[in-house]
Amino acid sequence: MLLNSIGEFGFIERFKPMFSHLLNSGQTGIGDDCAIIPVNEKEEWLVTTDLLVEGVHFLKDAISPYQLGVKSMAVNLSDIAAMGGTPIGAFLSIAIPKDTEVEYLDELMKGIHSVAERYSVPLMGGDTTKSLQHLAINVCIIGNCEKGKARRRGMAKVGDLICVSGNLGDSAAGLEAVLNKFPKTPAITALIDKHHTPTPRIEEGALLSSYAGVHAMMDLSDGVASDLPHILKASGCGAIIEVSHLPISDELRSAAEEYGWDCLSMAAAGGEDYELLCTIAPSDFDAVNEAFKSNFSKELSTIGFITGGASCIKWLDNGEEFNLGNVGFQHF
Ligand code: ADP
Ligand code: MG
Repeated sequence: MLLNSIGEFGFIERFKPMFSHLLNSGQTGIGDDCAIIPVNEKEEWLVTTDLLVEGVHFLKDAISPYQLGVKSMAVNLSDIAAMGGTPIGAFLSIAIPKDTEVEYLDELMKGIHSVAERYSVPLMGGDTTKSLQHLAINVCIIGNCEKGKARRRGMAKVGDLICVSGNLGDSAAGLEAVLNKFPKTPAITALIDKHHTPTPRIEEGALLSSYAGVHAMMDLSDGVASDLPHILKASGCGAIIEVSHLPISDELRSAAEEYGWDCLSMAAAGGEDYELLCTIAPSDFDAVNEAFKSNFSKELSTIGFITGGASCIKWLDNGEEFNLGNVGFQHF
């Protein structure tokens, strides 16, 4: 049997049950943005790791080493944000082809350092090895949160509003522009920057998780169409998403017009925006959104709501059925 017949998640599901009985009480393992490890009566640790491989996650000619350093940290911090946590420390494991220039690696480390400074996350260890061909960067971040306060994918409740913390589809558009070597107009440059240097929503995650009415949360690494089903499966519910409510930047709208892109599909299914996706009790939404607005000078976007029934998304466009087609990134 070939891996592409079961995919990334089919593979994970094959070995996950072998380890579940080894979890100590209070520990949460595979299945959320971070693992949860109890520390004491007040605190839990959150642990996450993500790997970036040359040619798969980035093109060495398209992204600067500094940007690559930023992105390696940001995608991991985003998983801490997704649980409402605070980062404590980072570990970096790196496999380097032997003809790599030291100046390239210095720039990579400067990028990592800039994010470490921004979020006060020390680099505390790692591993360095030779790679036969491609550069591979693995970051692991440890964070913490108040005991019992981590937001998990399985916490959504029927009737919750489904909200996102910012614009969707920019990163997918940036990737499209990189792959097709589009001329770097201001709009295209902004979209490419979103793709190369995403912002982990650490402060947003902390604020959202301070409200009891914010139930499930995760970060959007693969896009709403691929990521929301993880919340739906873990919570045993369904969802209705209204695509006309997906927040789309002016840059994406103008580039979509110029290049004939379908920006609704890009916003619904494009990956790597690293915005937060959360579900909020309707009675709490106004208070949460008010606090979000006063802290971050932007509103949460409500894109749909949680329903009972099968764990799948019903897509609407202005109330009419919307066919998103077969989209989403498959690793294998
Ligand atoms: P994310 O996009 O938030 O980083 P993923 O979709 O990559 O999460 O992974 C889903 C879940 O499966 C996570 O809990 C992750 O820790 C776990 N996982 C992924 N790959 C492996 C692996 N090789 N071994 C153990 N757990 C894994
Ligand atoms: Mg995640």
